[in-house]
Amino acid sequence: TREIQLASRPVGRPAPENFRLATAQLPELAEGQLLVKNQFMSVDPYMRGRMNDVKSYSAPFRLDAALDGGAVGEVIASRSDAHKVGDVVVHQLGWREHSVVDAAATTPVPSGLAPTSAFLGALGMTGLTAYAGLLKVAEFKEGDVVFVSGAAGAVGSMVGQIAKAMGASKVIGSAGSPEKVARLLELGFDAAFNYNDAPVLDQLREAAGERGIDVYFDNVGGEHLEAALATLTVGGRVAMCGAIAQYNSTEPAVAPRNLAVAIGKQLTLRGFLVGGQRQHAAEFAQKMAGWLADGSVSYDETIVDGLENAPQAFIDLLDGANTGKMLVRL
Ligand code: NDP
Repeated sequence: TREIQLASRPVGRPAPENFRLATAQLPELAEGQLLVKNQFMSVDPYMRGRMNDVKSYSAPFRLDAALDGGAVGEVIASRSDAHKVGDVVVHQLGWREHSVVDAAATTPVPSGLAPTSAFLGALGMTGLTAYAGLLKVAEFKEGDVVFVSGAAGAVGSMVGQIAKAMGASKVIGSAGSPEKVARLLELGFDAAFNYNDAPVLDQLREAAGERGIDVYFDNVGGEHLEAALATLTVGGRVAMCGAIAQYNSTEPAVAPRNLAVAIGKQLTLRGFLVGGQRQHAAEFAQKMAGWLADGSVSYDETIVDGLENAPQAFIDLLDGANTGKMLVRL
């Protein structure tokens, strides 16, 4: 089978030379394992951190070995009683056309609910991140004013729409292009701005008005977090989900410089990992299926064809080429 390996560790922005397309021999299936023909694989911002040789919440990728990550595909051989040929499963051995996986480490995909790609996005890890981050971590309440950065991306677009569906009084989003800003307004955001147009603080203050914001869902960090801290009301809450503004940087972050406002405003800043929110998965799946069915949430996908184009899809994701979930079709 064909797979993508890490050929060298990127310094700063990744380049195509950091990756290698290779052919690998598939191992024999052991008892309890499945052979999966992958249909889609996910490229995700957190993978950038795993390309560095530093210990983090997930282990670094090994050099000269296949990368891994979320993927969905069809079982084409099974040595597990729980799965038969033709079943569709989500698993964590992406970046390859075929995967040999332990059946116990897969999640079954129900048939007929949505296209399989959605189980890597709106109905998968992405959707759960948005749902749990907003409701359980930031403790969103009806009537809150919510600001989300990276709002036209996979997680951010779900956050804004879930907030609207649950009765936010205002949802504000930021993104990196006029097309993305227009898309956010179509998705039902009350206000949206392009962070490249003017300082984030000025644009956020204008969108939020006197009232300020109650919740900030942070996908970006840096200047966005600083602006949100300045705009949050007393008792405001921040779900710290990601800090993509600094994933490629080789220097320490310069913002936020105003963290001490958290004291006077009695703010709550909580970092979280979706892996620690799995107890909400069933509740999330049920709610999201309902919102998709009644049209209160819709999702965008940016699909790149071919395993050989996966490295470029990943590089483009960090550059903001995606609207909604970035996926590679295999
Ligand atoms: P997205 O679909 O949001 O894609 C990344 C987006 O980030 C790009 O489209 C780009 O959009 C934006 N971006 C890139 N560089 C910058 C920058 N310097 N400043 C502002 N925006 C930038 O990815 P995901 O939805 O998968 O992930 C969103 C965030 O959530 C990431 O930070 C990720 O690490 C985090 N995450 C955290 C999880 C957790 O468990 N805590 C789980 C999943 C995701 P634009 O054109 O608008 O710049």
